[in-house]
Amino acid sequence: MNVVLFGPPGAGKGTQAKELSKHYGIPHISTGDILRANVSKGTDLGKKAAEYMNKGELVPDDVLIGIIKNRLAEPDCKAGFLLDGYPRTIPQADALSGILNDINMPLEVVLNITVPDEELVTRLSGRYSCKCGESYHIKFNPPKKAGICNVCGGELYQRDDDKEDVIRQRLVSYKKNTQPLIDYYEEKGILVNIDGTGGIDEVFGQIINVLDQYK
Ligand code: ADP
Ligand code: ADP
Ligand code: ZN
Repeated sequence: MNVVLFGPPGAGKGTQAKELSKHYGIPHISTGDILRANVSKGTDLGKKAAEYMNKGELVPDDVLIGIIKNRLAEPDCKAGFLLDGYPRTIPQADALSGILNDINMPLEVVLNITVPDEELVTRLSGRYSCKCGESYHIKFNPPKKAGICNVCGGELYQRDDDKEDVIRQRLVSYKKNTQPLIDYYEEKGILVNIDGTGGIDEVFGQIINVLDQYK
């Protein structure tokens, strides 16, 4: 199954994608995680990307399209994939559709997870992340041991861009650049809305109800 998890920053895409990836046995591809791995390794790509990420702006399309093209060519994507954080602009969506047509694996469903802005700010300001890609929330999803990842034992940290001023900027960028993709995918007939305001398990239940139809 070929799926895009769509929604504003803080909607719960990463949290759901981690569980869905285990449940369906298909890879979770997060462009944010790929970019952060490059930033922490200090690659040329990471140095360029950090300038945008720290301001809450989108990294240029050509960089992202290159990343996603390489990633989707990996053998683990043959049985399907969960994209998280890509596409975020119309040119990225057009590029994705070209890449998937070439390998004869069209996108089947775009899950649009909706959550009101003020709740997004609360979620992101309380988010604690792990280098392994897991994320927690100080109140809504605390780790078993304070400051330590349940999955890998790594030390949790607050992302530089999870500060209120950068969060607001990311929401502005989402509305301007990314929200237009809702119409784009609605016109293609593959958009499904998911109410993201319930608890993590409740949202997961709603999503598998939809995705089970594509197994
Ligand atoms: P969140 O899940 O909280 O929205 P991400 O981890 O997906 O954040 O992204 C963090 C940052 O990485 C974004 O603010 C942006 O700068 C950059 N980024 C990630 N994915 C993309 C993309 N598809 N296009 C452009 N920039 C991206
Ligand atoms: P995204 O990848 O869309 O930016 P995350 O999955 O990282 O979002 O979730 C953002 C924050 O909100 C994290 O701290 C996460 O633990 C928390 N969170 C995720 N889903 C829910 C939910 N359904 N209810 C409350 N908090 C949530
Ligand atoms: Zn971890």
